[in-house]
Amino acid sequence: MQQNDTHEPMVLVHGGAGGSRDQDDGCQLAASNGIDRLRGGGTALDAAVDAVVAMEDDGRYNAGSGSVLCLDGRTVEMDASIMDSTGALGAVACIQRVKNPVLVAQAVAGTPHWLLAGDGAERFARTAGFPSHHEISARQRDKHEKLMRTLSGTGQATPGVANRAFAQHWNYDTPPAFKPCDTVGAVARDAQGRFAVACSTGGSAPSLLGRVGDTPIIGSGFYAGEQGAVAVTGIGEHIVRRLLAHTVYQWIADGMPAQEAADKGVALFPDEIDVGIIVLGRRDAGSASNREMPFAQMSGQMSEQVGK
Ligand code: ASP
Repeated sequence: MQQNDTHEPMVLVHGGAGGSRDQDDGCQLAASNGIDRLRGGGTALDAAVDAVVAMEDDGRYNAGSGSVLCLDGRTVEMDASIMDSTGALGAVACIQRVKNPVLVAQAVAGTPHWLLAGDGAERFARTAGFPSHHEISARQRDKHEKLMRTLSGTGQATPGVANRAFAQHWNYDTPPAFKPCDTVGAVARDAQGRFAVACSTGGSAPSLLGRVGDTPIIGSGFYAGEQGAVAVTGIGEHIVRRLLAHTVYQWIADGMPAQEAADKGVALFPDEIDVGIIVLGRRDAGSASNREMPFAQMSGQMSEQVGK
């Protein structure tokens, strides 16, 4: 650990690359929940998780209650992760029927494993006391209908992927309803200088059943260590190939300013690939995205800055 470190408590929150800055208010509420938790003596991890729970419950972000519908129009599969600089690590992938996947990810950190997926993750959630929850928001129903129209038309639903690929590799129980992707994340630093990250997503659309992106994959969608914490959003299939969260973490650990690292991370991707990054280091913080991205940053002094 370096000398002269500042330990001003801080929380940064994003609401997904490709979202709208009109949704910054939800990020601000989430960041202020995190700061309240730190003020009450909570750890960086408590603060990051509280912030993400607020976003999962908001309903406007692609996580928890706002999660995107799968191509069959009824399944919701969610991914979430947590990590901190004291060694806590937990994630869930493709989990169904829970209200707050990030809380299940936090509970996984208390097991002998770091990642639980699918049916096993849901069964674990029940034994850990999380009740069954399956609600599809009107907003997601509308988005699904629009997606079906895109998949049936000539526009590409995923950059670089032919729409027919989803029909060709179809793995749902029901036939395709067509013929031929925003996530949340928070990074926090507490007064003791510990760092944490928490992330949650409903995945990307369109996707096949069982698809897992970067959000529950350590070093890709999230990373936290003694020098900082990083949360990433965007198209998981591209993000995992760059191990983006760990790459950006390593840059700040080597002394690069957080804003420069965030910008450099986004610049690794061609413009058509959605990507967004939030970074909190020992001395500074940064955020960058190549799409509109809801965002808030708050410090322990409640000196609020919104966006970059
Ligand atoms: N990264 C998420 C995924 O690929 C989606 C997102 O950030 O919007 O599952």
